[in-house]
Amino acid sequence: MPATPFLEVSEAIALMGGDTLYQCMQCGLCSGLCPWPGVESPFRTRQLIKMGQLGLEGFESDDILYACTTCKLCVNNCPREVAIIDVVRAMRAMIAETGAAPAMLRTIMGSIHSNGNPWSEPREKRENWAEGLDVPRFDGSQEYFLSVCCTSAYDPRSQAIAKALVKILNAAGVSYGIIGNEESCCGEALRKMGDEEQFMGLAEKNINLFNDKGVKKIITTSPHCFTTFTQEYPEFGGEFEVVHYTQLLKQLLDEGKISLGGYEKKVIYHDPCYLGRHSEVFDEPRELIDACGAERLEFGNNKGMAMCCGGGGGRLWMETEPEQRFSTHKVREAVDKGAEVVATCCPYCINMFVDSAKGENVDETLEIKDLAEIIAEQL
Ligand code: SF4
Ligand code: SF4
Repeated sequence: MPATPFLEVSEAIALMGGDTLYQCMQCGLCSGLCPWPGVESPFRTRQLIKMGQLGLEGFESDDILYACTTCKLCVNNCPREVAIIDVVRAMRAMIAETGAAPAMLRTIMGSIHSNGNPWSEPREKRENWAEGLDVPRFDGSQEYFLSVCCTSAYDPRSQAIAKALVKILNAAGVSYGIIGNEESCCGEALRKMGDEEQFMGLAEKNINLFNDKGVKKIITTSPHCFTTFTQEYPEFGGEFEVVHYTQLLKQLLDEGKISLGGYEKKVIYHDPCYLGRHSEVFDEPRELIDACGAERLEFGNNKGMAMCCGGGGGRLWMETEPEQRFSTHKVREAVDKGAEVVATCCPYCINMFVDSAKGENVDETLEIKDLAEIIAEQL
């Protein structure tokens, strides 16, 4: 008798975009690659997929279904091409429809709905970070719309990234502007949390706004917005030429519009999952670090195999035990390798690493820097 409802769960996951779960042959490679078992979490990717295939209950707890950071390491290595993130997303969407998503994530979803950002901050303060700076307003006459992600718009630590970037863009004479308070979250984390309906509405609203303003080219501060604009908005008719800011800065460097050098520090680079594995941008950030004159170090697992910071897929807003924070393990590795600076180029990664450096009591000796900050210091 229970076979019917179980099958219904499995079929619902498939219908919500997780249909590749039936391709899984239970080899377990995904569980072996996933960072969670290495930090003594009960989460095993293979088991989650199995539960989805069989429609078994019990997958919906915070430390199982909501553990996945959507880092894509398993997806890129699955021999059966199971779109594991889509399976997770579909399972979360099913739970979200019943209103049973984790409380913290429900707060984030509600804030995006009410305020257009996940930080429970008023919409009308979105452009406050730019006060006192020479930041043009986008009116369709500029080459680029500068999309400042919600985190860099509101979070005080992250605002420094947006400020550093506009300093560089102004120095290089880039034609750009911000839209500001009319902007809303790109919706990337929302979709990964399972709020598909709100994501679709946001995508359409943002695309209409960008088109109405005459946007053709976009610079993003965040790899998450970058991936969403390049890989997900085209599904909804949003066709823009999008660059992550590191790609543009590398181009400006090659064109001689910025000159770098003299940053004589040992810098270890962390690949943000959404810039690296999701978007295959591995070289430009490294070339920028080299151009700064730094001694570049690498984590043992880097580029396509890099370990996630732990902040994707909604995890930025969820509680994680200190010993289970991926960024804490990376901070320890950075210290062991003699790094003076951890450099990255994603606001989520910066938040995760800043917290871990403090937690490890190394925040006085190990700087956590966005590449935009390192470069702006040299102008
Ligand atoms: S790696 Fe792919 S085929 Fe192997 S268990 Fe994981 S999802 Fe299944
Ligand atoms: S996407 Fe990353 S965190 Fe999620 S299951 Fe795969 S390896 Fe683990």
